Amino acid sequence: MTAEPAANTRTDCERLDREDPLRAFRDRFRLPEGLIYLDGNSLGALPKAAATRVAKTLDVEWGEHLVGGWLKDGWMALSEKLGDKIAKLIGADDGEVIVVDTTSVNIHKVLAAALLMRPERRTLLTDSGNFPTDVYMAQGLAEFLERQHRVKVVGEDEVEAAIDEDTAVVFCTQINYRTGRLHDMARITAAAHAKGALAIWDVAHTAGCVPIELNKIQADFAVGCGYKYLNGGPGAPGFVFAPKRHHDKVRQPLTGWLGHANPFEFGLDYRPAPGILQWRCSSPPILGMVAMEAGIDDLIEAGIEPVRAKSLALTGLLMRLVDERLAGHGFTPATPRAPERRGSQMAFHHKNGWPIMQALIARKVIGDFREPDIVRFGIAAPYVRFVDIWDAVEHLRDVMASGAWKKPEYQVKKWVT
Ligand SMILES: *Cc1c(COP(=O)(O)O)cnc(C)c1O
Repeated sequence: MTAEPAANTRTDCERLDREDPLRAFRDRFRLPEGLIYLDGNSLGALPKAAATRVAKTLDVEWGEHLVGGWLKDGWMALSEKLGDKIAKLIGADDGEVIVVDTTSVNIHKVLAAALLMRPERRTLLTDSGNFPTDVYMAQGLAEFLERQHRVKVVGEDEVEAAIDEDTAVVFCTQINYRTGRLHDMARITAAAHAKGALAIWDVAHTAGCVPIELNKIQADFAVGCGYKYLNGGPGAPGFVFAPKRHHDKVRQPLTGWLGHANPFEFGLDYRPAPGILQWRCSSPPILGMVAMEAGIDDLIEAGIEPVRAKSLALTGLLMRLVDERLAGHGFTPATPRAPERRGSQMAFHHKNGWPIMQALIARKVIGDFREPDIVRFGIAAPYVRFVDIWDAVEHLRDVMASGAWKKPEYQVKKWVT
């Protein structure tokens, strides 16, 4: 499949769907009839098997086994089990990823751990394309450390040049959540190491849709999110990647009892658990984790390379159709055209982006809007079809040509966008 398939009609798109090697996966998701869901980068769709699995956990495991479920149903081992599965999608080994807490909380842990590994350095370096919570968490940590540290935010293209002898950690998100532009992780990581700094990556928006090689590039730590392309469900826990080469040296600050070497000894001195387990803090959120497993299993079965190939074909098609069929309507691509520079979303600048997206949503084409002027479509290859892209563009064309976006009700801003 090429990054920009030659589809010029809806019939061409139907043919691409018939030939799609991943076509069987869509049926594993529950998707409301008539809905075109292009927001899998914000909240992935529900795998049908997740619903069954959660129901069983409630009914049999919690309902019948009660506290016995921790061992009998493998609840206590679930954080590592899911971590080992996610590891396959992000280029990590067994025992290097654990599903715990949420992305923001995990950011605190990895940043603090990195600062402890570089005690003589004072700068946390990030870029202005990073997701706000990542920058906020870094600022909160620096504040907590009595402002002896500083968070330096530079432009997306200035990260490498800004690394210096005071940089403790370079901390970026692989993708710009607005534009969908990818960083060159290997290059930035190597540049950080060349200056003696550590490199931490947030792969929240790319795990499950872009092949990631955390060990190959020698990333020091990484965090990510369960509810986007991993399809783990609303508020699903996040994950931490910590490579084996750091396990013995590293300490993370949220030293809850379940990260202790032996929590059930109930002693009063903290000793970290060996390996990846010290990254756990609290009792694991079993229902949330049970809901995650099916989505991750599907991605492993589909294979991240075929998922990436289809995703590039879908985003390439969307970009070309908007070029051709919405010319003159004021959309400018925010996402790089080069396939290797983009993730699994397509974003366009438009000065009326908010009401245009509301008009699309009213027609059951679900994308989202990001300040200040970004119309964003997240493309989850396991369940989005080529005809969905075609139909979404036709709806967009109609919204523009008819002026439907000008309706007063579409101008009102909402709290969750
Ligand atoms: C979605 C996302 C988050 C979300 O953080 P939570 O703590 O799960 O709310 C964080 N960072 C990035 C880069 C994201 O894309």
